[in-house]
Amino acid sequence: MLERPVQFVRGVGPRRAEGLAALGVHTVADLITHFPFRYEHQAQACAIDALRIDESATVLGRIRSLRRRGGFSRPSLLAVLEDGTGTCYVRWFHPGRFADRLAVGMELRVHGRVGEFNGLAVFTNPQFDRIDGAPAALDTEAARLIPVYPATAGLPSAAIARVIGQALPDALPHIPEPLSDAFRRERSLPLRRSAVQRMHEPTCERDIEVAHRRLAYDELLFMQLALQLRRLAHRRAETAVPLTCTPKIDRHIRARFPFTLTAAQDRAVAEITADLARRTPMNRLLQGDVGCGKTVVALHALLVAVAARQQGVIMAPTEILAEQHFRRIEQYLSGSRVRTALLVGGMKASARAALHRAITAGEVDLVVGTHALLEEDVTFRALGVVVVDEQHKFGVRQRATIRSKSQTPHYLVMTATPIPRTLSMTAFGDLDVSVIDALPPGRRPATTIAHAAADADAIWRDLRRRVQAGEQAYIVYPLIDESDALPLRAARAEAERLGKTVFAGLSVGLLHGRMKSDEKDEIMTRFAAGHIAVLVATTVIEVGIDVPNATIMVIEHAERLGLSQLHQLRGRVGRGTRAGLCVLLHEDKSRTAAARLDIICETTDGFRIAEEDLKIRGPGELLGTKQHGLPELKVADLIRDYDVLVMARRDAQQILGDDPTLSHERHEALRSAMLSYYADVLGFLDVG
Ligand code: ADP
Ligand code: MG
Repeated sequence: MLERPVQFVRGVGPRRAEGLAALGVHTVADLITHFPFRYEHQAQACAIDALRIDESATVLGRIRSLRRRGGFSRPSLLAVLEDGTGTCYVRWFHPGRFADRLAVGMELRVHGRVGEFNGLAVFTNPQFDRIDGAPAALDTEAARLIPVYPATAGLPSAAIARVIGQALPDALPHIPEPLSDAFRRERSLPLRRSAVQRMHEPTCERDIEVAHRRLAYDELLFMQLALQLRRLAHRRAETAVPLTCTPKIDRHIRARFPFTLTAAQDRAVAEITADLARRTPMNRLLQGDVGCGKTVVALHALLVAVAARQQGVIMAPTEILAEQHFRRIEQYLSGSRVRTALLVGGMKASARAALHRAITAGEVDLVVGTHALLEEDVTFRALGVVVVDEQHKFGVRQRATIRSKSQTPHYLVMTATPIPRTLSMTAFGDLDVSVIDALPPGRRPATTIAHAAADADAIWRDLRRRVQAGEQAYIVYPLIDESDALPLRAARAEAERLGKTVFAGLSVGLLHGRMKSDEKDEIMTRFAAGHIAVLVATTVIEVGIDVPNATIMVIEHAERLGLSQLHQLRGRVGRGTRAGLCVLLHEDKSRTAAARLDIICETTDGFRIAEEDLKIRGPGELLGTKQHGLPELKVADLIRDYDVLVMARRDAQQILGDDPTLSHERHEALRSAMLSYYADVLGFLDVG
């Protein structure tokens, strides 16, 4: 019944079917889950003599006359409606079934757009209902909630409402119920079929809420089940070498660091070492704001591998970062027996070949590299742990290659992109997540101010004073070069201009993504050493660079960058003990963009910022579901329905806890409901 094509619904001909297909509605099931995206409060009834052409209105009136018109090809029904103030027409084309149900003398409520016909107001194919004998209904909210459907030009919302109204009574009893009564009651969820009905025919606002909650729950539960099933199946298929971290090993590793780990770092370390000790490969996302100290936590994991006579790899998205990691690791490990190597692009072929051989022979314990590592044919003797820094710069495919080398390693992804919890539960639903939510002691987050670029003279003067006094600054531009298409100040020209004006007499350097990596390196090294006072750059410095003396950052055209990106950028300053300052310069014209910047100024909470970004840009850009090959959510909203998501995730865990393949008889309805959405995602697994 539910799988029947929509043409079987009364009132749906080939033309309507085509319109519905354009909306993604092919079957009756699609039709009844084509939900309103909002509801209109039907306006108070309007006197007929007060109707205005081209506006939507509701009138109450009595049918004075009723006439069939038109030929066989375009039959219509024309009613004259009166309400004591005047008369208007109501006209239905192809009136079909209800032509017989209307009669002179009936009272109707009619709602729709007002047109003009024969000098009178006319409603064409409006929404209407009979109100005779039930005038009290007029005052109830029920009578006034009109669903508004996603529609097309040829198929307006009201027409869709009629088709749905036609199909609903027959379809409802066939809607399967995937949840048991007890399960539903515990969670105060209505029947699925009742939720579907209430979405289309709400009697009050509360109805919509309750219905929405149930439907969002189903959607999120199916998704969580699919993701977790996928994860469990992977786990069964892969085995890793368990790496135990004894208290003694832990002590030795920690003794290598020149500081004590923060409580947040300790927590992450504990979660990771617990994973490493298992025979199933770790698959964990380590998430934390810039500067929170993820590298040390990753290094701890790598050293646990080394202690177990396994190898470790850490990969960074750029050479600058790889080298920074390498230098830091060398410092921590100086005097130890751990053998480290750096594998980057600029190496001579012979040196590279020698290093490959050493890695294969197990003569190197820790390899630091860029993603180039993934493209090379490096074979490890025994790869225990893989750490990937800044995951968002890596593709999924690349990740697959490194994993397939020799045994399955434990896998840790680090990211400073504050992925909202909602997204890490969905897009990364098959990763475990550790969060470092505090900065190391003594660190003060940068103060951030937003200012119109046009009258920032005083700010520039102040910056000059601070740089003269020995502080270092980044000035960031969205573009390298000016272009005709976009009237923006750009890095190269501004570096020159600033060097002659604001920062005259001080050394100004330029860094951008089109430079060769050894050039970039040289500039970064000189900046880190203090030989360059002001570094004009593009957003290439977004990721990971650590120069403690750099305390000032100016971001030009800040209105053009995403909030999370701005947040990452400003994380570059205030890494030392002196408080950082970040100035966001924006164009005067872009008022709304400027208002958005206030969020960055107000909070240093990366998660809040990411949620705002999510609201503004949608999840697509931020590791959304699409990118992970998941079907789009139709009802659930990851932000608004966050509590439902949490509940669904927990329930999915619980359900799969006692039925890991979801094949128990009592889960049959749940399984087939889930598969109707996720069969594709799970297709390659043994769950179909
Ligand atoms: P991110 O999370 O951005 O990768 P890093 O790992 O680069 O952060 O750490 C940022 C800086 O903080 C580094 O200079 C590191 O040495 C320092 N650091 C890390 N953990 C601590 C700690 N527990 N106490 C003091 N400094 C720390
Ligand atoms: Mg880092």
